[in-house]
This record gives sequence, C-alpha cells and structure tokens, in this order.
Amino acid sequence: MTNVSRHHWTVEEVVSLFELPFNDLMYKAQTVHRKHFNPNQVQVSTLMSIKTGACAEDCKYCPQSGHYHTDVERQRLLEVEKVLNEAKQAKQQGASRFCMGAAWSNPKERDMPYLIQMVEGVKEMGLETCMTLGKLTPQQAEALGQAGLDYYNHNLDTSPEFYGQIITTRTYQDRLDTLEHVRAAGMKVCAGGIVGMGESRHDRAGLLVQLANLPMQPESVPINMLVKVKGTPLDQVDDLDPFEFIRSIAVARILMPKSYVRLSAGREKMNEQMQALSFLAGANSIFYGEKLLTTPNPETSDDHKLFNKLGIEVEQREDASDEAHEAVIMSAVKDAQTDELAYQAE
Ligand code: SF4
Repeated sequence: MTNVSRHHWTVEEVVSLFELPFNDLMYKAQTVHRKHFNPNQVQVSTLMSIKTGACAEDCKYCPQSGHYHTDVERQRLLEVEKVLNEAKQAKQQGASRFCMGAAWSNPKERDMPYLIQMVEGVKEMGLETCMTLGKLTPQQAEALGQAGLDYYNHNLDTSPEFYGQIITTRTYQDRLDTLEHVRAAGMKVCAGGIVGMGESRHDRAGLLVQLANLPMQPESVPINMLVKVKGTPLDQVDDLDPFEFIRSIAVARILMPKSYVRLSAGREKMNEQMQALSFLAGANSIFYGEKLLTTPNPETSDDHKLFNKLGIEVEQREDASDEAHEAVIMSAVKDAQTDELAYQAE
C-alpha cells in the first residue's frame, strides 16, 4: 500500500478536527479506517536496541541521551549473531517486522558493514526489517536500501514551533532531510512523534500536519505517549489527558488514511480500555516485547489476552508465505483464550 495521496492540511483545519465532539471524531476516524483497513486486525512489530545509551543528541525525553544521568546501561553495537538470534525469537513469538534501534546521532562508516549484515540476516528469516539509527547521508540510505532494509524510522517528534524546547543539537530540517534520503533510496518511511511533552494542542496538530503534508505520507506513523524517565528534563511534566491522546490517534488516522498508525511508547501505562479506544480511533499497529528500547512495554501474553477480548487478529505480512509463522500466532492467541477460560472458571 503506497501513500501517494497528498493533502495540504493547515494547522487550523486540524485543530478544528481535534475540537470535534469526541463521538463525532471517533466516528469520522473509524469511518476512514474501515475504508482502508480491516478494523479487526493489528500489525505487530518487535523492537530491539542494538546500541544503547551515550547518544550525543540532547532530546529532553530520552533516557539514552548522554546529556542526562539516567539508569540506562550503555551498550556498544551488538554483534550480528546476537541480533539475529533475537530476531529469530521475535518471529517465533509472532512478530512480522523486526525493528533495530541504535542510540546514535548518525551511524559511522565503520558500523555500516555490520548494519548491512544485520539487515540481510533478518530479511533471510522472512521478517520485514526496520532500523532507526539517527541521521543518514544519501549514501548510507542507499546502502541500507540495497541491503534490503524495508523501513527506516526517523521521527519528527513534535511541531516545528515546539521543537526547539525539546532538542537543540539537531534541527527540524535535518530530520526532514533524512526522511528525504530514505525516500530517495526507495525505502518505506516510519515517522511520527511524541505527545505529552508539555506541548499545546496546536503543537500536536502541527506535528500531524507536518507528517501528513510530506510529499509521500509515511507508511508507519508511531504516536508515542511520553514515558517520563527519572533523570531526563521532562520527568516532571504534567500528564496528558488520555482522551487527548486518543484524539491525537483519531486525527492521525483521518489525515493519513492509508498509514499504519502505531501505538508505541507509553502503552505500558495505558489500561485495556484506553488501548481499545485507541484501536477504535484507528491505531492498527503495536510493538510486542517486554521492552521498547529502554522503557517497559506490556507483556506479550497481556497483548494476546487483550486481542482475544476485542476479537482482534494479528495481521500477516502482505507477502507472507510462511504458514508456520501464522500458526505460531494463532496458537499463541488460542493459548491466551484457554488461559482466560481457565481463569474465569477458577
Ligand atoms: S531520541 Fe535518539 S537521537 Fe535523541 S537522544 Fe535518544 S537516542 Fe539520541
């Protein structure tokens, strides 16, 4: 599915979507969602940190920034074999996409051969591949694309106006340039942002406008809820109202009808009802696994239970030919169903 549709959204138009009565907004989002997706399917990815901490950037929300003192343990780039073993396990647990994240400003030339081997190895397992490594040069984007990297994640984080309060070491334009190099190399784009950092509704609208007005809308749009980590400058920021988060998901769905809207960081703090409302608002992708880079994520078995309660199925890769893979997921969902029945019978 390619996102060639382009609309020149204005921030004012998008703010007025945010201001709709909640039920009207949900209805609109769900109507758009049903035109493009099976409303009862969710795509599942697994994320692994391949290099952790000591990042030169100063993103104020991030426990991996070398500018702040947090409990994150630093870890150099992992060996290729370790990453491939992890990918194998992710596949066994039902993931269809394996995302590898490195806390870097940008990859160094000496790292490129290892990164390429990782992409090739994960691809060979029949998984889709995604990486997030910071800024890329056009040549690096080209090399990763040639190795078979399907997606590159690079978030815009927030609106251009609020951006300077969150990051000072990299410009908004740097981010847009990397997204352009990724597109030019033929890869799919995963780009989203974070809400709950103390930004205004106008800023949330501004972020979504930036994403929706890209020459080609991103195939994946992660919407993260800030995870407040002790030691980062944002650890005391006020909580965002959960309904405002759900509104953000719904507006993202309306603006980017064909994109996968992903519930990302912050899901661990969301109860089942909030996650269910997010799916109703048009979210159709999640991360599996107990950790999201360095912050906690719900247990895989909890996800299976929730999917069961909601009648949600795990979406298969469009070109999936591996029936065993599908069987693994369905049996995990059945196991959760059995556990649930046993629990109810107690
Ligand atoms: S968000 Fe990424 S670029 Fe920013 S400090 Fe964290 S690891 Fe570095």
